[in-house]
Amino acid sequence: MQDVDLPRHIDLERIGREPRAYAGKLPSQSMAKLMGLVDDAAGIEASIQVEWAQDQTHAAIRGECGAYVTLICERCLEPMDARLAGEFEVLAVDRAQQADDLPVDQAVVEAPRGQLDVVSLIEDELILGLPVVPRHEDTACDGGQRHFGPEDEPLPQAESPFAALGALRQNNGSSDTR
Ligand SMILES: [Zn+2]
Repeated sequence: MQDVDLPRHIDLERIGREPRAYAGKLPSQSMAKLMGLVDDAAGIEASIQVEWAQDQTHAAIRGECGAYVTLICERCLEPMDARLAGEFEVLAVDRAQQADDLPVDQAVVEAPRGQLDVVSLIEDELILGLPVVPRHEDTACDGGQRHFGPEDEPLPQAESPFAALGALRQNNGSSDTR
């Protein structure tokens, strides 16, 4: 299996039936959908192996991908760096309908007339790896200003009933003098 640079397209029909391996970088500018979801992306890398199934009707495409992205923390609204990583194993189908003959849990990628769009495959895998709610690991990144959920909440301080009583008395006392 020889390693060649990652192309933007792979012609699955052309490459023959021998297993192939590709590895390399992709420019972030080629991924408009991903760039619309992140503040910035860099170092997009992927490796892909193509192997034809025994029956030679579908090419199996396996690989890994990764990228460094800048997201906006939903707690403090400041930028945060995150590493995306994905692994995939899909069968190439000519059209989505062709997947009807395959097991339901079989992941597929559309490659019309054997044309595999490498950029869109990797882009979709990276998008799947995006955190649903990006937040800094430091739960006090906003200086404790905003709270979003139970994991953010500090443990409630047990308040002494006597302290509450004292405060009540004080309030009563001060209201008389107003
Ligand atoms: Zn933050």
